[in-house]
Amino acid sequence: MKYLDQIDVSGKKVLVRVDFNVPMDKSGNVTDVTRVKASLATINFIRDKGARVIVTSHLGRPKGKRVEEFSLRPVAPVLAGMLKTDVPFIDDCIGEKAEKAVTAMKAGDLILLENLRFHPGEDKNDEAFAQELAKLCDVYVNDAFAVSHRAAASNTAITKYVPVCAAGFLLKNEIEYFNKAMGNPTRPLVAIIGGAKVSDKIKVLENVIDKVDRLIVGGGMAFTFLKAQGFNVGKSLCETDMLDLARKIMDKAKAQNVQFLLPVDTVIAQEPSADAERNIVAVKDIPDGWMGLDIGPASIAAFSDAVKTAKTIVWNGPLGMFELAPFSSGTFKLVDAVVQSGAMTIVGGGDTDTAVHKTGKSDKISYISTGGGAFLELLEGKTLPAVAALG
Ligand code: AMP
Repeated sequence: MKYLDQIDVSGKKVLVRVDFNVPMDKSGNVTDVTRVKASLATINFIRDKGARVIVTSHLGRPKGKRVEEFSLRPVAPVLAGMLKTDVPFIDDCIGEKAEKAVTAMKAGDLILLENLRFHPGEDKNDEAFAQELAKLCDVYVNDAFAVSHRAAASNTAITKYVPVCAAGFLLKNEIEYFNKAMGNPTRPLVAIIGGAKVSDKIKVLENVIDKVDRLIVGGGMAFTFLKAQGFNVGKSLCETDMLDLARKIMDKAKAQNVQFLLPVDTVIAQEPSADAERNIVAVKDIPDGWMGLDIGPASIAAFSDAVKTAKTIVWNGPLGMFELAPFSSGTFKLVDAVVQSGAMTIVGGGDTDTAVHKTGKSDKISYISTGGGAFLELLEGKTLPAVAALG
């Protein structure tokens, strides 16, 4: 796979696949510009080489039809404002309109094409649609990490029809940080896996157990492991059909000398509500009718201790129901511990990212992945189709 800085884009027509899947309010105003900002390094690099930059993305799920609320039109002025240049918006991504617009471009010009998903061929990884896109350019750059786990025409099939293809800087960062953490880590390597369900993370657990020195499991999923050890977990989240798998993971950890840490105490309530009566109990003392909604202070201390000597940390999933303030301190205090450890840390997965941002310490984390599903699939040990297509 080539990276953008390893190919020649000077004077070329470069189609850049970005992720501008930004949130918008009802009047069509972009309410969070993080994703647009994340594409600037790649776009600026290409522009500075005197290339013509054809920017293309998806937005929402219009399911192969033109749906006005999913138009990328409102993103053009956002990008224009950041780059301090005109960004004409072209209201189709293929066909005569797009081709004419590209022909009219001069060196250093930029255009933004309409939502790729207005065409059914995009999500189907359709060859004919990919060829239509490929017609627009002589170089293709993929910088949309967050969708690289799904093969689409604009990130997979297109690579067959454009002679020069490369990964942009955002994709490069994602891949390089991930490989540094999981491929060739400075040890000890500690994984923190939290979130709601074991069933969502089972493949992640099975993969990371082979790679880490320490595995910390928190969040709702910890209760399935605790139940598998024979504890009463009351009304806590628990997947009884996962008990055997949970036991298998714990046996594997033991056999491979991986330190496996579960909460030793928990903040309980009778309902998942911010005003519910709360209590802190050891995990062996969860009463019937109560549920564990955060890790308790002894667990925070034990988990913090386990990350203190880490040299590399990978974190996916909150350790409690952090959206409700009374159950957020486990997750937030672990952010502090991770930051203080000085370890190379990557954090990924939508909720974990939100939790870290809430602490105001995201700039102290080595890398926060921009992909939820894509990051999880990397953690599962999978090869992402759009990344493979660049190889
Ligand atoms: P995930 O998407 O699997 O990472 O799960 C994230 C969700 O898990 C968040 O919305 C949390 O509120 C939820 N969660 C974390 N810990 C618990 C818990 N102990 N009980 C219920 N939900 C939890």
